[in-house]
Amino acid sequence: MQLKGKCALITGGNSGIGLATARRFVAEGARVAITGRDAATLATAANELGVTAIRSDVLDAQARSSLFDRIKDEFGHLDILFANAGIAKFSPIEETPEKDFDDVLRTNVTAVFLTVKAALRLMDAGAAIILNGSMAASTGSSQSSAYAASKAGVRALCRSLAGELSPRGIRVNVVVPGVIETPIWERTAVPPEAAAARERRLQGMIPLNRAGRAEDIANAVLFLASDEAAYVQGAELVVDGGVLGSAAAAPAHRR
Ligand code: NDP
Repeated sequence: MQLKGKCALITGGNSGIGLATARRFVAEGARVAITGRDAATLATAANELGVTAIRSDVLDAQARSSLFDRIKDEFGHLDILFANAGIAKFSPIEETPEKDFDDVLRTNVTAVFLTVKAALRLMDAGAAIILNGSMAASTGSSQSSAYAASKAGVRALCRSLAGELSPRGIRVNVVVPGVIETPIWERTAVPPEAAAARERRLQGMIPLNRAGRAEDIANAVLFLASDEAAYVQGAELVVDGGVLGSAAAAPAHRR
């Protein structure tokens, strides 16, 4: 068991990548708390996995403060933070209202910064912070400006925090998922036919010729969270089926 005796918090642990990671962390012996806004999926995860499920909006300062009070009461400290909660909105620049841009940046960058800031009072030397980035920060996909900018912000946040927290023995790394089958795709406001076309286009870009599964990312997060990654700091672990590393091998380029 790679996380035996460790205490972990996963934001957005009631769905997709966060939920798969919670399941894996529990299997590896961790005590796990998850957050999200949806009470029903939080309750299901709590029943199924035995995790502590806390309803908490990452954008709400009061909720954030009570969240870490609760973690302190239940766990006393925190060994692992997976700052995973995030949203995606895809639209052409001229059809993107300022509010959508702000919502994406506030959820994916500002709230990550504030969550890490609030968590640090419970973290000591040996603790690990994992941020959830995206290949979108690097691919230059169209209609993704807000999302891509937010995930580039996550990458920069990771590097800077790794520098700042190294003297305290706290590691900060980022997992960089590619196209992963999770509910995030249904949540985007894109019409179904445009979403299907987008998915086909994205799949044609993947050298390993399949979309990723939430478990593929959970495996990578487990590594970054574990003591096996004790010397990994400020790194980006790309888990994208080869999109960033060998784009020319994608199905769209095969003869
Ligand atoms: P999901 O939509 O399944 O999960 C998103 C999670 O974030 C949910 O648990 C949701 O819970 C939570 N969340 C969103 N907004 C808030 C908020 N304001 N407060 C608290 N929780 C919130 O999608 P994924 O699992 O795919 O996404 C997880 C992360 O992975 C995101 O950061 C995403 O950007 C990243 N990612 C995903 C990729 C993919 O292809 N799926 C690719 C690259 C990165 P609730 O709705 O209950 O609030």
